Amino acid sequence: MLRKKIVAGNWKMNNDIHETNGLIKDLLNESNSTNCQVMIAPSFISLQSSVTMLSDSKIEVVSQTMHHENNGAYTGEVSAKMLSSIGVKTTILGHSERREYFKETHDMLKLKVNKALENSMDIIFCFGEELKDRKSENHFSVISNQISESLFHLKKSDWTNIVLAYEPVWAIGTGETASSYQVQEMHNFIRTFVAKKYNTQLAESVSIIYGGSVKPGNAKEIFSMQDVDGGLIGGAALNSKDFFSIVNSF
Ligand code: PEP
Repeated sequence: MLRKKIVAGNWKMNNDIHETNGLIKDLLNESNSTNCQVMIAPSFISLQSSVTMLSDSKIEVVSQTMHHENNGAYTGEVSAKMLSSIGVKTTILGHSERREYFKETHDMLKLKVNKALENSMDIIFCFGEELKDRKSENHFSVISNQISESLFHLKKSDWTNIVLAYEPVWAIGTGETASSYQVQEMHNFIRTFVAKKYNTQLAESVSIIYGGSVKPGNAKEIFSMQDVDGGLIGGAALNSKDFFSIVNSF
């Protein structure tokens, strides 16, 4: 089964509209031919102009999160319906920063997953253990819980819209990367876990990407692992040369 290979840049709360336009121009200069699906996730205020600027390119613009209702009295929030209306077809959900700082729970993420699917959006669903979980050797149970609580209510057919992103919290923005052994071990665990709930064919078709201090210097080794189908890139996605060096590591 040929799984989709993806490298997605999560810009987080970085880049105003001028910086965004500049970085997108740089990305357009770097992106000739790539072996994978390239995505960027700028801030909400830059999504529409980014979609327009990248309309003739293969780079997809995705959102960093979304609300679980289509509309209503939710001051400051943005819905899947709104995102769809400007041509954003994919959203990141469950990033560890959303879980930690915005208190997104398994149940809340389940609602967001449902709403994104209802609006025919694809989802990059993030999860990952904290350092204390790994130190106490609870990392496998933390990960299986995060996945099952928010995703295991889905029908088999829903999984064509799901990309899983394993992002150990201790490796995000810290410069500390999980070893390629640790990454492969966890990705294989995740695939087996999904296979047990659904079936092997479905599990083999789900892309599982890794996030956590992926840089030009370590991307090739991480991407060469059998169950790694790409990366979710934070810091290194803010520089077009570094980002495309990672993209071209495939
Ligand atoms: C992220 O936030 O998804 C991430 C992987 O960040 P960084 O690459 O900076 O560790």
